[in-house]
Order: sequence, then structure tokens, then C-alpha cells
Amino acid sequence: MPSVGSHHVRRFIERYAELIAEHERELTELDAAIGDADHGSNLARGMQAALAALPPEGALPAEILKAVAMALISKVGGASGPLYGTAFLRASTQVAGKAELRPEDVAELFAAALKGIQERGKAEVGDKTMVDAFAPAVEALKASLVAGAELAEALSEAWKAAQAGSDATIPLIARKGRASYLGERAQGHRDPGSLSTALLFQAAAEALR
Ligand code: ADP
Ligand code: MG
Repeated sequence: MPSVGSHHVRRFIERYAELIAEHERELTELDAAIGDADHGSNLARGMQAALAALPPEGALPAEILKAVAMALISKVGGASGPLYGTAFLRASTQVAGKAELRPEDVAELFAAALKGIQERGKAEVGDKTMVDAFAPAVEALKASLVAGAELAEALSEAWKAAQAGSDATIPLIARKGRASYLGERAQGHRDPGSLSTALLFQAAAEALR
């Protein structure tokens, strides 16, 4: 199987920025229902800053991921900036020094990102956050690779699992973040961060096509 290089990582970031721009309104509308109506604008601003901060051609995957992390941490307020920033920073550290990533490296990169989100935000699956999409995606990615799938296919499985995890947030009461102040009033609404995470895995899957 061909390995993943800097151009794939760059394509992943560019595709994520595009998807966030396309879904900016939807993300903000979801956040309007159970938060403060800024998730779409937060991430759109952050990903524009990330694109502007991308290092020149020749940079390693870890350097690209670190530039995105720093842009998100400095440009996105609220809960999601530091959480996604930490995710990209841990992902960067996980693949430090590598020019080419094997499928297992990619799985470990996303597992490290999830670990960072959970260490920082203390959310578990079922708390109605981005973790509800991220955790099943990482599980599906690992399981597909173990079952012998190609990386592109495994990332598509991860994307599907993230979407299903996001769908599963709809009936939940939130136990973390702003939506947790609403109690039962959060029921019936998708968690916005779970959608932005599903888009992250969509971008990863599409970057390998
Ligand atoms: P804020 O809530 O500060 O306005 P955003 O609107 O940008 O920040 O992001 C909200 C999203 O952040 C939520 O939909 C949820 O998925 C995620 N989130 C909030 N708190 C946590 C947490 N402790 N752990 C994981 N994700 C969280
Ligand atoms: Mg918000």
C-alpha cells in the first residue's frame, strides 16, 4: 500500500477548510440551538488562519499539523479551538520526523489526537460532544486496518462511524460544554462539534482518493 506523504496531509487540511466553509452556516445553526451560535464561524476563521499558516512545500507532515494546531489555538476562541488545537498538536508529535506515514501511523495519529481531546476536555462517549464522533471513528479506522482494508477504505469507514456517532448525539442530554447548561432542552439537537469531527474524517478520507 502506498504511504501518506506531506502532499496528502496538505490536501487533508485544504479539504477540511473547504468543508468547514461549506458547512459554516449549518454548524453555527446547530450551535445556536444548544450553545452560543459560533461554532461555524469559530472554525471557519480558524481554518482560514490555518491555510494562511501552512509551511512551504517540503515541510514534513508533523510541521503541517503543528502549523494548523497553532493557528487553531491562537485564532479560535471557545471550547473547540483549544480542543482541536490540542488534537492537531498531539497528531503532530505522534508523527514527528517522519516524511512518509504508514497506515498504522495514520491510525496512531488520530488515536493521539483523540487522547489529547479527552485529556483536555474530560469528555467520554455519550456526553454529547465531538468525542461521540471522534472515538468511534478511531475505533473503526483501527478495526478496518486490522481486518486488512486499504487506508483509503479504512478512513471511509472512520468517516461513516463518525457520522453515525454524530447522529447518536441527537437524543442525548449534554454533560460537557455549554449545552450541558440546558439539561433536557438539548435533547433533539445534534451536537455541532460532532458534525465538525465527522467533516474532519470526511476530509481525511477524501484526501486519499
Ligand atoms: P463554545 O462552546 O465555547 O462556544 P464552540 O461552539 O466552538 O465553543 O464548540 C462547541 C463544541 O465543542 C461542542 O459542540 C462540543 O462538541 C465541543 N465541546 C465542548 N466542550 C467539550 C469537552 N469538554 N470535550 C469535548 N468536546 C467539547
Ligand atoms: Mg459555541
